[in-house]
Amino acid sequence: MTAMGLLFDVTACALCGACWLADKERNKLPIPEGDFTQDALSDTAFLAMERRQGRGVRHSCMHCVQPTCASVCPVAALEKTPVGAVVYHQERCIGCRYCVIACPFCVPKYEWSKQLPYVRKCDLCHSRIAAGESPACAAACPTGALLYGERSALLHVAHERIAAGKGAYLDRVYGEHEVGGTSLLILTDISLEELGYPTNLSSNPMPSLTWEALVNVPRVVLLGGAMLTGLWWLTKRREEVRAARKEQQ
Ligand code: SF4
Ligand code: SF4
Ligand code: SF4
Repeated sequence: MTAMGLLFDVTACALCGACWLADKERNKLPIPEGDFTQDALSDTAFLAMERRQGRGVRHSCMHCVQPTCASVCPVAALEKTPVGAVVYHQERCIGCRYCVIACPFCVPKYEWSKQLPYVRKCDLCHSRIAAGESPACAAACPTGALLYGERSALLHVAHERIAAGKGAYLDRVYGEHEVGGTSLLILTDISLEELGYPTNLSSNPMPSLTWEALVNVPRVVLLGGAMLTGLWWLTKRREEVRAARKEQQ
């Protein structure tokens, strides 16, 4: 299956909020009143559109080619699918929140206020794209600022726009190399720092860095630590689920 992706062109974004609303509707999330640009990423906002320097700045899961969130998850609750989306299997999740800490883009959010909390984030409308449709945000965008397609084709389009723009764009496609590449690619006319995107990321996939660090730690320490942490969280999670079920009865 072909790895798909999204190209977000900051220069074409009208900050209309249609993508933000489409995310809310698609994922059945509450729609807050007021300025949508103030709705930051949370367990009820999987896509945020921030206003910076008069431009729209998209925040959502980057759907990393080699996702750190999936590599640290001890129970394979996060999965990179062949179609490009990083999806979440909530029935497997034990609530350890390693993914929340490990994501280089601070994306996964935990439902702290719920009795039975899960991790929440954008899944690139996985069921839609698996059926050959585009993600809801891209389908709703009236300006073409969000382009959906094969990741390799989107990279080609992005570099063509940079070349044709003759300096109108920053000569860099954000997500082409960051953490080994992401399925959300971003084109901008001003610096990534001004837009607030992290720019100090390695071009190596984070899972490989994790493993490079881990091989230097004695195996017995790792195994012991992992087992104890796992046991503690499993026990805690079981207790939380039991308590919540009791209250629901
Ligand atoms: S952006 Fe974070 S949550 Fe999304 S795939 Fe990458 S590591 Fe996982
Ligand atoms: S919180 Fe859930 S999805 Fe995240 S790492 Fe732990 S088990 Fe995996
Ligand atoms: S729908 Fe398109 S133009 Fe409107 S805010 Fe989203 S990306 Fe920008």
